[in-house]
Parts: sequence; C-alpha cells; structure tokens
Amino acid sequence: MTDSKMQKKSPRASGRASAGAGRRQDAATLTDCEVRDVFERLHALNPEPKGELEYVNAYTLLVAVVLSAQATDAGVNKATRKLFALADTPEKMLALGEDGVRDLIKTIGLFRNKAKNVILLSRRLIDAFAGAVPADREALVSLPGVGRKTANVVLNIAFGQPTIAVDTHLFRVSNRLPIARGTTPEQVEHGLERRVPDAFRLHCHHWLILHGRYICKAQKPECWRCPLAEICRFEPKSPPPRPKSPSYTA
Ligand code: SF4
Repeated sequence: MTDSKMQKKSPRASGRASAGAGRRQDAATLTDCEVRDVFERLHALNPEPKGELEYVNAYTLLVAVVLSAQATDAGVNKATRKLFALADTPEKMLALGEDGVRDLIKTIGLFRNKAKNVILLSRRLIDAFAGAVPADREALVSLPGVGRKTANVVLNIAFGQPTIAVDTHLFRVSNRLPIARGTTPEQVEHGLERRVPDAFRLHCHHWLILHGRYICKAQKPECWRCPLAEICRFEPKSPPPRPKSPSYTA
C-alpha cells in the first residue's frame, strides 16, 4: 500500500488535521517549533549521523551511490569491497573494464546497466574534470547514471554541502510527519530546504533516512517506539506488537 493510500484510508488522519486547524499555526504541516523539536530529538539521539555506504574517497562514494539505486546499502557494500580494492580511481576503473566491473557487481540489481554507467562516468571524469569528482550539482548530473539525488548525496557527504537527498525513506517520513509535503522528491527537497533550520541542514537527510529505514517503515511504522510520536500527526499510530500467546500442547 502506498503512503498516500494509507493516509486516504485513515479518517482519523483527516479529522485530526481539520480539528487541529484552530490550535496550530499550520494544520497541514508541523509548525516551525515542532520541526525544530524533531531535529533536536534526532540530533540528541545521533549527533553525527552517517550514511551506510562504504567508500574510501569522493570517487568511490560517487560510484557506490550510483550502484545503490534500487539496491540495499548492505548489498552494495558487499560488492564494492572487492571492486574498490581493485579500483578506487577513474583510471583504475577504466583499466578494470566494463566486463571486470560487471563481474564484480553482478550481485547488485541492474548490474549490467550500472557497470556500463560506472565506466562511462569514469571516462567522463577523466576527460572533463581531470579525474576529480566535481563539487557542483550541474557538473555531477552531467555524468552518466548520476541524477539529482546521487549528486546531492555526494555534495553532502564528500563536500560538506547542506544538500538534501530525497530517497524513498525520507520522502515517506517528510510526508507523514509532515515537515514538507510533496508528490515528487524535488517538491519535498525544496520544502525541506525552506523548513529545516540551518543548524540541522547538513545532517537532516541522514537523520530522516535512518528514521525511515529503521522506525518509520513503509508498511508498519514502529510508532510505539518512535522518538517523534508526540509531534507526528500521522494517524493511526501503530501499537506495539502483541506478545505471542503461549501455545498449549497436549
Ligand atoms: S509516530 Fe509513527 S508515523 Fe510518525 S514518524 Fe514516528 S514511526 Fe513514523
């Protein structure tokens, strides 16, 4: 079930939103104070959040993020440990060749196309950027296989820019709380840019991604143990799982 369907199916959700209109500055989204509260809580729990992809430099980060599309970070890490031991620069990747890359990443979904893109982007990095990863979104998205989300991850992690990479987890969490609503990742990204206080901008995408991955899950959000439950307007909140009843056997 999609998030939008979940919300449409919840009469309590719409009832609560309209009931709250008189009490809150903005019934549709969290107030500025509540947004700050969200990030203060996430910061207190994890002051220096990190992504889970493994890399050794900006180039291998870029390749890892390209490989992570529609794949888990754990699955990507398993393949890239061997890949990056052999090729941690565009030059070494070209020397490995498309067949070599394909063989090392064949456990990752869409590996044929991804291997092709890794070779093409390595070639372009050498030809257009002297082998270095550019710290510029426009330049990054000109590379084969690199979209806005990948560029934002690289700019944030490798270059310390306060970009917000909207993946499926962050998209869901932002719409549920809601901090910024949108029907496309770009709408949510721009909404978050307007709403997240500067002090929390650098790490906000990591906090929200990790929150969505481990607590605010797509099918069964774990609201009973969520540190944001008092602030979040998503309804109905999930109760704790019922303990299994003992089974009696004769
Ligand atoms: S209370 Fe539930 S829906 Fe709201 S952020 Fe937490 S886990 Fe997600």
